[in-house]
Amino acid sequence: MKPRIVRASETKTKIAPDDLFVGQVLQDQVFVPEDPSRLRVTRVTFTPGGRTNWHAHAVGQILYVLSGVGRYQMDGGPVEEIRPGDTVVIPPNTRHWHGAAPDQMMCHLALSESDDQGNATDWLEPVSEGDYTTAPN
Ligand code: MN
Repeated sequence: MKPRIVRASETKTKIAPDDLFVGQVLQDQVFVPEDPSRLRVTRVTFTPGGRTNWHAHAVGQILYVLSGVGRYQMDGGPVEEIRPGDTVVIPPNTRHWHGAAPDQMMCHLALSESDDQGNATDWLEPVSEGDYTTAPN
């Protein structure tokens, strides 16, 4: 890992793959892991209705909401509304999803690490409309 400033102009915004996300979602890699760090930092922008599939992280994940209004659900738990300044702590190997509210965008930083085998995320099935539209707590 060498000391430097990664300029905003060095990264290109990517459209998130539609087999892992629902709706239009944009990803900007803020920091890509460099040995010995295993930390990846991604800024993710969900358009209204956009969300991840169900998934789990081998070493957990931290989300920090930057703007908009979002939704988050752990498997078996309520749909929670998340707002700018909120930090969501997701334990290892816990099924969950996150995304925008139906009528608002949401942008968060996603911080995650890989395990000893290099695994970070296990992707699962899309979030059903029924699960997504359940009124948030
Ligand atoms: Mn996640």
